[in-house]
Amino acid sequence: MSLTRASTDELLQLLDSREVSAVEVATAFLDEIEARDEQIGAFLTVDRDGALTAARTADERRAAGESAGLLGGIPVAVKDLVCTRGLRTTCASRMLENFVPPYDAHVVRRLRDEGAVLLGKVNLDEFAMGSSTETSAFRRTVNPWNSEHSPGGSSGGSAAAIAAGLAPLSIGSDTGGSIRQPASFCGVVGLKPTYGRVSRYGLVAFASSLDQLGPLSRDVSGSARLLQVIAGHDPQDATCLNVPVPDWTGQLEQPLEGLKIGVVAEQFADGLDDEVAAAVRAAVEVYRGLGATVEEIELPHARHSVATYYLIAPCEASSNLARYDGVHYGHRAEQFDDMVDMYAASRGEAFGSEVKRRIMLGTWALSSGYYEAYYLKALKVRRLIRQDFDDAFRRVDLIAGPVTPTTAFRTGELTGDPLAMYLADIYTSIANLAGIPGISIPAGISQAGLPIGLQLLAPSLEEDRLLRAARMYERETNWHTRWPASL
Ligand code: GLN
Repeated sequence: MSLTRASTDELLQLLDSREVSAVEVATAFLDEIEARDEQIGAFLTVDRDGALTAARTADERRAAGESAGLLGGIPVAVKDLVCTRGLRTTCASRMLENFVPPYDAHVVRRLRDEGAVLLGKVNLDEFAMGSSTETSAFRRTVNPWNSEHSPGGSSGGSAAAIAAGLAPLSIGSDTGGSIRQPASFCGVVGLKPTYGRVSRYGLVAFASSLDQLGPLSRDVSGSARLLQVIAGHDPQDATCLNVPVPDWTGQLEQPLEGLKIGVVAEQFADGLDDEVAAAVRAAVEVYRGLGATVEEIELPHARHSVATYYLIAPCEASSNLARYDGVHYGHRAEQFDDMVDMYAASRGEAFGSEVKRRIMLGTWALSSGYYEAYYLKALKVRRLIRQDFDDAFRRVDLIAGPVTPTTAFRTGELTGDPLAMYLADIYTSIANLAGIPGISIPAGISQAGLPIGLQLLAPSLEEDRLLRAARMYERETNWHTRWPASL
């Protein structure tokens, strides 16, 4: 078996039995990136030296009979808006083109502590604003299943890297679907944890009340393991929850008994592609076959999720991105007349058009007179969406549904129509607004050969339920074992 096709568990087995070394594993992935990433476009920075050094350390620890850590010698690709000490972190923006963080994000420190091998930094929509990775200032990432199609976004580099066999694991971020949607488009697993489950220290902020870091992987077990490493209390992030971290990897194979699954009828109404609907219905039948009961539920305010999200996220973004003024941070224009002109020129030159659109939308919605009418109202609707989930989860354990209305769209297809692009976040953004965890798992392939994802949502802090239920489905199906025909 080729190392770059192996799952995380398979790689760990090979490493622990000393059949292969971490240096061999790292070299296999680095060589694959060198050979094929020009075409895929997943990586913005490859850290060959750093990766090989970390791999050698993992090998030395094993040779000395010590534990190499939960991810000892496993390569990980990190979304390029997570700070890595000494390694460029661009957020796919000209604004931070040359930013080299002086510190590691909490998740990066956890990865290093557990022996992970950081391969490099992967592409995204600029500052994570987008659903296609097309707003990256640096390069286009293709969907490994069909290079004319988008890998999704904003964690498109993460999902494409895994789908193409350029990394077994990746750290992504999800503010309104950015882990789950690209996972769905690329046929891999992606999990957005409960808000506060994973520290945001060192994650460059987009919308702070929605942002959450999480894992992408080939299979459910890979995500469970990566989450195991990155989750947990961190006093450096005041919103990070001080709650115990369950043994997700240890409990993964235990099926859930008497599972009650909720299905939202409205999600299958207009706008959902027939093939996606059929795949999701078939997945629900798999659970029924495993003894689950299925119940129709309602989320009455879910239809307002896109409008609510696209007010709250830009408002927070406009505030968070104010720091990029060319003085404290980021690109500074060379030509300007006075101080105000310097700000305008620096920001005008270095932000792309989608980022500018968000800043303008947010600034406008927060301005005096509009604040009550838009921002405050959006906060109230957000509360009602959360209430809908609280009510639903009194009746069911999990909610199953589509991740996205369609399979991966073509690159460029929605670029000129931001509203259509925003509307496609209908099924994912609800989880961010409510703060609950959600997972996307491979659940089908369309006639055109593009992956289809299944989304499972669980109550806050019930990642255990999410992972075990996902694993139950995975055991019955083989979608997660498929590779693009071109590979
Ligand atoms: N597509 C959404 C947006 O553009 C989600 C982005 C994200 O989750 N980072 O805002």
